[in-house]
Formats: sequence, C-alpha cells, structure tokens
Amino acid sequence: MSEYPRGLAAFSLEGRKALITGGNRGLGYAFTQALADAGASVAFIGRGADANQAAVDRLADAGIAAHAISADLTRDDDVQRGVDEAVHALGGLDIVVNNAGACVHNPAWDATDEQWQQVFDLNVRAVWKVSLAAGRHLRATGGGCIVNIGSISGLIVNRPQAQAPYNASKAAVHQLTKSLAAEWAPDNIRVNAVAPGYVKTEMAPVDRPELRRMWIEDAPQQRYAMPEEIAPTVVYLCSPAAAFVTGSVLVIDGGYTVY
Ligand code: NDP
Repeated sequence: MSEYPRGLAAFSLEGRKALITGGNRGLGYAFTQALADAGASVAFIGRGADANQAAVDRLADAGIAAHAISADLTRDDDVQRGVDEAVHALGGLDIVVNNAGACVHNPAWDATDEQWQQVFDLNVRAVWKVSLAAGRHLRATGGGCIVNIGSISGLIVNRPQAQAPYNASKAAVHQLTKSLAAEWAPDNIRVNAVAPGYVKTEMAPVDRPELRRMWIEDAPQQRYAMPEEIAPTVVYLCSPAAAFVTGSVLVIDGGYTVY
C-alpha cells in the first residue's frame, strides 16, 4: 500500500491543531472555519474580546468549537502568551496562519511615522514574532506548517489609493516566508504565503464606486473575491497534499496581476 494518502484524504487536516491570527472576522474567520471543516482543531487570536466571542458563537452555529484568545500581536508579551495559550488549549500545535494585518491609505508625502510603525508592527514584526514563538514549538515537536497572508500589494502597486507602507510590508512578508522556508526545512517546518487580490472584508471597501474602475474592471475576472474563496488554498497549503510545497507565494487574484 502507498504511504501517500489518496484522493481527498490528501487534503484532510484530521487531528491537526491550528492557530489563526486575526480570526474573528474577514479572511481569518474564513480560514478558521475552513481549517476546522477540513478536520483541524482551531484557536484564533484577535484583540477584541466581544468580536472574538461573536466569532466563537458563529462558528459554534456551524458546528465548530473554536478557542478564542484575546491578544494584541504588536505586543511581544501578548504574542508569547497567545501562542502558549493556543498550545495549551489545543493540546499541541501543527499549523499557524499569520493573517492579522492592517492597511492605511495615505500618499507617501502625508504618511506619518506612526502609520508606518502601525503597519509594520502588525504586518511584519508580528508575523516574525508569532513565527518564532510558534516555530520553536513546531521544531520541538517534529515540524508543522506556517501560512503567511501576503498580498498582491507585495507584487504590484495598487491603484488609485496610495499605500506605500502596506505594499512594502507585504513584500517583506513574501520574502520573510521564503527566508524562513529555507532555514526551517531541515526542521520539517514548511512556510508558504498566499497573495490574495481584492477580497470583500472590513479592510477592503470593494463596493466603493470610485474604486470600481481600477479594483474591479481592471481584473480579468472583473470581480472581487469572498473570503471563502481564498480559504481552500490555505487548507491545501496546510495539508499533506502540499508536503513538497515550501517557500511558495501562491497568488489568488482573479488574474489581477497578469497585466
Ligand atoms: P480585517 O480588517 O477584516 O481583519 C483583520 C483581523 O486582524 C481582525 O480579526 C482583527 O481583529 C485582527 N487584528 C487587527 N489588529 C490586530 C492586532 N494588533 N493583534 C491581533 N489581531 C489583530 O482584514 P482582512 O480580513 O481583509 O485581512 C486579513 C489579512 O489579509 C491581512 O493580512 C490583509 O493584509 C490580507 N489581505 C487582505 C486583502 C483584502 O482585500 N481584504 C487582500 C490581500 C491581503 P481585532 O480588530 O479584534 O484585533
């Protein structure tokens, strides 16, 4: 008999333990739900205790028991506490999805140091700190996988809105992904990223008429995505089906970046 799972079994996350950052809404919520639907036990991190509880309740309605952790990932002590709590609540850890992120629209001339700091503290530094805190656990327990949420903004410059710090931060996420993939492959830790195009969430005002021309009509598929359309790719990257995939940045953008 083959040692490789056949068919959909290759995509199963049965018995895996997953931590998702920014899981109380938007893309992170969809990732939490999809990973659980694929068989994983799930914990997620968000700052807002009320938003976290609301997400736990919504997930419970969908038959999913999720563990919520209130933590601000721009604070180092919260990062360690959050990872420790996830390991404790789940009884281990195999999968980490670094999803929490923030974006500020502002022309570079007007962008403040605080805006730069806010974006980099969460989008880059927190990904680094969570990866290290969780990675130590993965290394000690035989390996696992990390999926970072990058963006097409790490590959192209979005229009018409100006968002230089965000674009730079997502390029950093992609390169951090490749760097950790290279360093941690001997520890059986795979590190990949997804780079979504426009997805309807609180962060992305995809329905604003003044953005339609460049956000929607410029894309080959002429539409935005819903978070549930990005989630299966995260499941794939975390599954045995992606055992030979590491250091990849998987673009999911309806063709936006082909032009
Ligand atoms: P949302 O703004 O809808 O959600 C962000 C999530 O992150 C929330 O759960 C929020 O919860 C959490 N969060 C924010 N700040 C912190 C913090 N300091 N500590 C812990 N958690 C925090 O964003 P999206 O779902 O749209 O984006 C998710 C990821 O996808 C981001 O990395 C984003 O850059 C990326 N992305 C999004 C695209 C889009 O079009 N929407 C396109 C490409 C990439 P709380 O506020 O309670 O802390």
